[in-house]
Amino acid sequence: KMGNATLRAELGRSTWKLFHTILARYPEKPNNLERKTLETFIQLFAQVYPCGDCARHFTGLLAKYPPQTTSRKAAALWGCDVHNKVNEKLHKPEYDCSKILTDYDCGCGEDEKAPDY
Ligand code: FAD
Repeated sequence: KMGNATLRAELGRSTWKLFHTILARYPEKPNNLERKTLETFIQLFAQVYPCGDCARHFTGLLAKYPPQTTSRKAAALWGCDVHNKVNEKLHKPEYDCSKILTDYDCGCGEDEKAPDY
């Protein structure tokens, strides 16, 4: 059986992948409902994240660095910055946030309709 640290790392990688992909597909010009939906999602996400230590630390980061929801770029860069804060805590290398929107292509295709909120 895999050790706890390995499982926690695996969960983290899967979660960050989904997290950054959601932000990279967030509307470029969100309306108020879309902004509220993302803000609520992020707060609830922090509350239900199954690693308790991680969730507590992340909730603290959200209080200090509130989610930026004015545009896709703002949201994606905010997500990149908070992930870098976690990287810093774990002594991992800093990721170059200028690549964030191209690194997290969902494979959904540009022609497809963006999700409805
Ligand atoms: P990860 O940090 O999982 O990153 C996966 C990949 O994303 C990297 O290989 C890189 O390609 C890319 N990446 C790296 N940085 C960024 C960035 N800033 N923006 C975009 N992409 C990037 N673990 C703990 O031990 N303690 C904690 O308190 C903790 N808190 C966490 C909180 C949350 C909300 C999440 C989702 C995870 C948390 N984790 C925590 C797990 C931890 O962040 C890592 O996921 C895990 O240690 C595996 O690390 P990794 O080196 O494989 O890369």
